[in-house]
Amino acid sequence: MLIEKIDSLLKEIQQAHADNQEQIEQLRLKYLSKKGEVNELMGEFRNVAKEQKKAVGIKINELKTTAQNKINELREQLETQEAQSDEIDLTRTPYPVELGTRHPLTIVKNEIIDIFSRMGFTLFQGPEVDDDKHVFTMLNFASDHPARDMQDTFFIEQSDPDDVTKNVLLRSHTSGDEAHYMETHEPPIRVLCPGRVYRNEAISARAHCFFHQVEGLYVDKGVSFTDLKQVLLTFAREMFGPDTKIRLRPSYFPFTEPSAEMDISCNICGGKGCNFCKHTGWVEILGCGMVDPHDLAACGIDPDVYTGYAFGMGVERIANLKYRVSDLRMFSENDTRFLREFESAY
Ligand SMILES: [Zn+2]
Repeated sequence: MLIEKIDSLLKEIQQAHADNQEQIEQLRLKYLSKKGEVNELMGEFRNVAKEQKKAVGIKINELKTTAQNKINELREQLETQEAQSDEIDLTRTPYPVELGTRHPLTIVKNEIIDIFSRMGFTLFQGPEVDDDKHVFTMLNFASDHPARDMQDTFFIEQSDPDDVTKNVLLRSHTSGDEAHYMETHEPPIRVLCPGRVYRNEAISARAHCFFHQVEGLYVDKGVSFTDLKQVLLTFAREMFGPDTKIRLRPSYFPFTEPSAEMDISCNICGGKGCNFCKHTGWVEILGCGMVDPHDLAACGIDPDVYTGYAFGMGVERIANLKYRVSDLRMFSENDTRFLREFESAY
């Protein structure tokens, strides 16, 4: 009796077919679940006469394996069919694809690029993983120069411990791009280098291990500090409004001589003095200067024929001034509530 029942179940499962996952699941429930046929047969197995036990046991096992194999086979068949099917259900509700917004740093970077493009600057992007030669040495940072301490970065490889110029590192400023560009291009050069830079800094509201810069370089015959000042004034007025004033304070950078830091009149109080500008009426926005003749020579440009200026600014800094983002970390936290606030800014 039992053997016949198993045989008929075997025949049934061998001939089974399924059009969808649901039917496969029904088969699994019927044969292999807790209350399925196989388990039921196991229950009946103890009533089987001793001399038949072996034969029935083999049959039950055969039924179990056959059912398992058949169900797996049906699943595979169905998956292949679905993968090959090119039917598209046009009536189906689409996935809710949410449109993102442009990142505030991208908005500001694009605005900076746009202003300088109108003054004839072209774009150049150098490598983020660079060598010491381009990031420091060619820019007048001698291997033991204290200015290196201000730009501690992440070192990738040090092939010769006695020669820092062999180091491979994450660039700490985009000034290295200027070295790359001058090395491979003849003056006149008028180029803008935007990009991500890295510093080995503890992350806080005011400092991060990566941020963004835009660096500008102009090298030609007869380029003077006056040209630099006019270009920067134009930039400040385009960026922060036509009433913006600028002032240049003497400063130091290894790769420019003379060097200056530029402040703009505080765009919150209009220069009268407020908490934001610490009651000075001015806020710092960038560093600049005339390219050191030593750098020009290091890049194969004759400093007796050509002069040039360079400037560099932090994109986060400009974004802070425009949008008053108090915490630098918010730019990289991917909090869409913060990012959505800039939806109407471009
Ligand atoms: Zn102010």
